[in-house]
Amino acid sequence: MAKHSFNIAVIAGDGIGKEVMPEGLRVLDAAARRFGIALHYKHIEWSSCDYHAVHGKMMPDDWKAQLAGVDAIYFGAVGWPDAVPDHISLWGSILKFRREFDQYINLRPARLFEGVPCPLANRKPGDIDFMIVRENTEGEYSSVGGVMYEGTEREVVMQQSVFSRHGTDRLLKFAFELARKRERKHLTVATKSNGIAVSMPWWDGRAAEIAAGYPDVRWDKQHIDILSARFVLQPQRFDVVAASNLFGDILSDLGPACTGTLGLAPSANLNPERRFPSLFEPVHGSAPDIYGKNIANPVGMIWSGALMLDFIDQSGTVGRQAHDAILAAIEQVLAEGPRTPDLGGSASTTEMGKAIAAAVERAT
Ligand code: ATP
Ligand code: MG
Repeated sequence: MAKHSFNIAVIAGDGIGKEVMPEGLRVLDAAARRFGIALHYKHIEWSSCDYHAVHGKMMPDDWKAQLAGVDAIYFGAVGWPDAVPDHISLWGSILKFRREFDQYINLRPARLFEGVPCPLANRKPGDIDFMIVRENTEGEYSSVGGVMYEGTEREVVMQQSVFSRHGTDRLLKFAFELARKRERKHLTVATKSNGIAVSMPWWDGRAAEIAAGYPDVRWDKQHIDILSARFVLQPQRFDVVAASNLFGDILSDLGPACTGTLGLAPSANLNPERRFPSLFEPVHGSAPDIYGKNIANPVGMIWSGALMLDFIDQSGTVGRQAHDAILAAIEQVLAEGPRTPDLGGSASTTEMGKAIAAAVERAT
């Protein structure tokens, strides 16, 4: 029998992470009841303001042991620059999870919804509906390099990019598999082989070789400069986009930016082999500027929860149904309200979360 019971580590974190998390859980609970899924939460307070303030670090040394047996991590946001510098809070928490749990896929959907003001002219819902698959562990973000003649006129700095065949192939395979499952079955591979003359032609070659195994997926490669322009000018061209760490980082801010507010955007950090837990979090940070007012948009958190249910349920049935029901509920509430101030409304975080949960309960 398929397993429909899951252990979830819940880390709300700092700032608005604490405000959107209860709404994420509210909607997860509604979906779990509706679709017969059992979710067991382990609430963990690892954050800048609670944990670091007391212990001088973001997590205990045995953090891995404490997460043993969890199927996924549901994560709000960490960071509180007045208390802990961002490089310490991020490297001590979220970036540690990505590396140590080999979450080599960063998946970010971008979709334009009715009722959400789009910064691009003349765009309607349906024009933007794509998934960005970013490599999350190597590429341009290596720490290999150094400085010579530091502090002198002759100063030279070098940093290397690292592309392994293993790391590149598994990223591309994931992207082709994802494209294969979608209606349009199209993949765009981001490259820059006309300028970066060693790694990127090699990357193109890996893409061509992997593509041979997916004759049912149409694919093309596009240089990152024109690809970025097309995100803005012709977003309807895209279905799934695969990119290296740096290119993917940039695209995965640009894509959701084209669909309105940062508060909507979800993300998944995946270890597809499930050797380690995967992590699901909204794209936005802790947003100290709006914390404490109960006005943060909870959709990014809620949508991330939908991605989590879809991923953890390997039966491909209830998790997918719950995901689709949550997405439909988000779509309905964005169109009809209530909406938070970033969407031009005046609803609170709680009101919007409750409305989405209620729409999930009504799902057929
Ligand atoms: P990071 O944590 O990645 O460093 P950041 O601190 O630069 O990100 P965020 O905390 O995401 O940025 O906030 C950026 C801006 O977007 C802020 O003005 C914030 O108020 C707004 N914002 C972020 N998330 C939301 C949300 N869920 N609802 C409404 N506004 C949001
Ligand atoms: Mg921040």
